[in-house]
Amino acid sequence: MKTYQMYIDGAWTDAAGKETFESKNPYTGAPWAVIPRGQQEDADHAVAAAIRAFRSDDWTGMTATNRGHLLRKLGDLIADNAEALARTEVQDNGKLFNEMFFQLKYVPEWFYYYAGLADKIEGSVIPIDKPDMLNFTRYEPLGVCVGITAWNSPLLLLAYKLAPALAAGNTFIAKPSEFTSASTLELAKIVDQVGLPKGVFNVVTGFGAEVGASLVEHEDVAKVAFTGSEKTGRLISEVAARTFKKVTLELGGKSPNIVFADAEMDNAVNGVISGIFAASGQTCIAGSRLLVEHSVHDAFLDKLLKLARTARIGDPMDTDTQVGPVTTEQQLEKVLGYIDVAKGEGAETLMGGRRPDRPELGNGWFVEPTIFGGVRNDMRIAQEEVFGPVLSVIPFDSADEALSIANDSSYGLAAGVWTQDIRKIKHFSERLQAGTIWANTYRVISYMTPLGGYKNSGLGRENGQNAIYQYLQTKSIMIST
Ligand code: NAD
Repeated sequence: MKTYQMYIDGAWTDAAGKETFESKNPYTGAPWAVIPRGQQEDADHAVAAAIRAFRSDDWTGMTATNRGHLLRKLGDLIADNAEALARTEVQDNGKLFNEMFFQLKYVPEWFYYYAGLADKIEGSVIPIDKPDMLNFTRYEPLGVCVGITAWNSPLLLLAYKLAPALAAGNTFIAKPSEFTSASTLELAKIVDQVGLPKGVFNVVTGFGAEVGASLVEHEDVAKVAFTGSEKTGRLISEVAARTFKKVTLELGGKSPNIVFADAEMDNAVNGVISGIFAASGQTCIAGSRLLVEHSVHDAFLDKLLKLARTARIGDPMDTDTQVGPVTTEQQLEKVLGYIDVAKGEGAETLMGGRRPDRPELGNGWFVEPTIFGGVRNDMRIAQEEVFGPVLSVIPFDSADEALSIANDSSYGLAAGVWTQDIRKIKHFSERLQAGTIWANTYRVISYMTPLGGYKNSGLGRENGQNAIYQYLQTKSIMIST
């Protein structure tokens, strides 16, 4: 078993109460790492360190250009360590090594991109309507920012927050999911080599309702950037309202993938499959509702099922595997529970719908890729986020009907449109209530492109140039001349 410590104020430390918990490998169900179980005292320790760092000359006196240099160095070190970090993530979240390695090799781009922006944050001179007055603005950092992340892509989700926060001159406390803390602690070992002043970056581990809640409540925390469930997002939003914190919330989804009769079918089949079965369906942007035009419904499903049935389920470290386990035992129960709900609602199981009957998969938390036909959009399986490899197929007859089904959701994170008709793409991209629209592609993300939700899928946007302003505040200065 590997034993980890938290990283606070540039030093390694156990939880103040010396408590720990175990991180388990989803492929075997066996514990593999011991993680400190932080509590309020540890949250207080980290916030005090981050506040001190925020006020120190070492950090506030550093030029934005030099902050950028440090971020670039961090990006380089992450690139050098991408494979080891990916292996750590796979041990914790059971996602495919191929996917995590690809992701980790991409993560440095967030640090390079925001490093480049750090010294391009410019205020403006306002031609104010008062005589003899000089008025200009400047952007200043917020202070201590807390980044709370989900377990599906720990370091990618952290990069969305950490890179702009540090580029803007804030200090930062990371609180990874209790199911996947190890890679964030490994990242701290890397940050330790970069030369940031101590206390600028800290990692506190433990349970959400304990140390997570303490961080969110803390009066010296200026901002919480959160990725996780709608339920926790709501809680954080309530506390933030009461304590006047800024928040960014990246929450769940129930994204529609809309396939028209004139779509390029093989392309659409591939997109729909990777949209729902990649990461065993554990992505916020999962295309978990397939809306398919009636006239091609049967032909499309034939192709879809044929390809989905070839999916190789197995060891996530094996580069031939296409579907790994789900990340936690609770998630396994939740997914199986939703499968029962769908069956109870009268959906037809077209494939999967159970744990694989394969002794060689041992105690791993596997669910077979599952496709339900005959789903109506008012069923729970079409409305609630499963966060697992479960696809609901809903037929439609007209573009208007497709649009109304697609938008009939409390979520609005993403949507896919598959058609060769550019007018349809334009029509849908203007009317779909979702933060990201993909046409003839799916699941493409970039550090340059805003990501975030309409409706209950979140608040604010991560990534892209504007995201840095979510870590800055504007000051207006007036001088009588
Ligand atoms: P979760 O809400 O259970 O936990 C997320 C994080 O919040 C964890 O670090 C947890 O410890 C912490 N937390 C829990 N309760 C807390 C509290 N009271 N105060 C402070 N922190 C608390 O979510 P999860 O199960 O880890 O992740 C799955 C969810 O994340 C899904 O809904 C998924 O759609 C969403 N997600 C969204 C995006 C996006 O970009 N929109 C990306 C990935 C995942």
